[in-house]
Amino acid sequence: MSEEDNEKFYILSQQFLLGIKRAVLYQDVQELAITDSLTGVFNRRYYLERFKEELERSKKFNYKFCCLMVDIDYFKDYNDRYGHILGDAILRELAKTIQENTRQIDLIGRYGGEEFSIILSETDKDAATLAAGSIRQAVEYKPIRAYDEELKIRVSIGISTFPDDGQDIETLIDRADSALYQAKQAGRNKVCVYGS
Ligand code: GH3
Ligand code: MG
Ligand code: MG
Repeated sequence: MSEEDNEKFYILSQQFLLGIKRAVLYQDVQELAITDSLTGVFNRRYYLERFKEELERSKKFNYKFCCLMVDIDYFKDYNDRYGHILGDAILRELAKTIQENTRQIDLIGRYGGEEFSIILSETDKDAATLAAGSIRQAVEYKPIRAYDEELKIRVSIGISTFPDDGQDIETLIDRADSALYQAKQAGRNKVCVYGS
């Protein structure tokens, strides 16, 4: 390569590199804006945004879908006993288990501190009950490594269905939440469906 070509090539390659860096940075910022940094699932704000889209889509095409609220049983005790660092590790493990037991098209959000909310797209009550049962069971049987101990956690899950139980986000979440409360009342480590 001539000296002149070499210089041109250098300038071009630098610009190319800058372009790539910018694209990667953009992707990182996007990720930060939509995901929860501890667990990698959607943050609450973005989850609700996607929930709204799912609601519109389901209304338009007459699809059913289900909203799940998942809450760890006696999580406070784990934090008290093993510390917050381990509590955080438990949250990460739970998010992973939920991801492993749902489909790519489902939406998973960290709704509160130790509460996850899930939208199962194009899913009716019966199928959602089965799916929630698999999540509950997978959590129950998957040991979490903590120092030299293996500990187990359990979750309770409440389910509401669109359009049967509500036609807006607030009602659907509210009803999944009251089904969750019912699961807690019934002894925890359970799945409850709103209205039954
Ligand atoms: P229940 O079976 O009724 O759900 O009991 P619980 O102890 O899980 O419920 P409670 O709402 O009383 O406590 C939730 C606890 O979750 C309180 C707090 O210590 C813990 N928590 C919330 N967010 C985080 C977090 O980001 N990290 C950790 N380590 N703990 C969290
Ligand atoms: Mg809670
Ligand atoms: Mg809890």
